[in-house]
Amino acid sequence: MSLVNFVKTELKNLVSAPATEKYPDGPPTYKEVTRGHVVNDMDLCVLCGVCQMRCPTKAITVDKKVQTWSIRPFSCIQCRRCVDNCPKKSLSIAKEYTEPDVIKKQFDFELSEKQKAMLAEQARQAAERAALAAQRAASAASSAGAELGQYRDQLTAQRAASAASSGDPTGAGSTEDKKQ
Ligand code: SF4
Ligand code: SF4
Repeated sequence: MSLVNFVKTELKNLVSAPATEKYPDGPPTYKEVTRGHVVNDMDLCVLCGVCQMRCPTKAITVDKKVQTWSIRPFSCIQCRRCVDNCPKKSLSIAKEYTEPDVIKKQFDFELSEKQKAMLAEQARQAAERAALAAQRAASAASSAGAELGQYRDQLTAQRAASAASSGDPTGAGSTEDKKQ
C-alpha cells in the first residue's frame, strides 16, 4: 500500500462509524435476510403436522392430543422448509436470534382458544357426518333385507301355487322328485 492510500484509509477510519457493534452493550441490528429463529402464529396453526414431517433435523414436535406445537431452537438450522410448507402460513422466520443458553431447551406453544374451538367444531361436524353415513348404511341394509324377504315370500307363494296345481299340497315336490 502506498503512503497516500495508507493515509486515506487512516483518515477514513478516523471519521467513519466502527464496523463492529457494541453488543451486548447495545441492541444488535439484523439485516433483512437474517434468519434468526422460527416463530409460529398459534392463531393460525391447525396442528396438521406438516412442519414436523418436513423438518430435516426433527426440531419440531406437534402433539395433537395436548394441542401443542414445540420447537427445539438448538436443533433448527433455519432452512425454512417448515415455513415454506406450512399450509396455513402460520410459520415465519424472525430476524432476531434466540437468547444464548447453556442447555438445549424446547419451547412449547399451546394452540390459541380460537383455534381450539375451531378444531373442536370440525371434530363435532366430522362425528356428525360419520353418524349420518352409518345411519344411511344401516337403513340401506335394512331396506335391502326387506326386499329380500319380499322376494322369498313371493317365491314360496309361487311354489305353493305350482304344487297345488300339480296335486302336491306340501309344495315340496313328489317322492320321486326327492329321490332324484
Ligand atoms: S405446518 Fe403450519 S399449520 Fe401445520 S402444524 Fe406446522 S405450523 Fe401448524
Ligand atoms: S427452519 Fe428447517 S430446521 Fe428449522 S424447524 Fe424449520 S424445517 Fe426444521
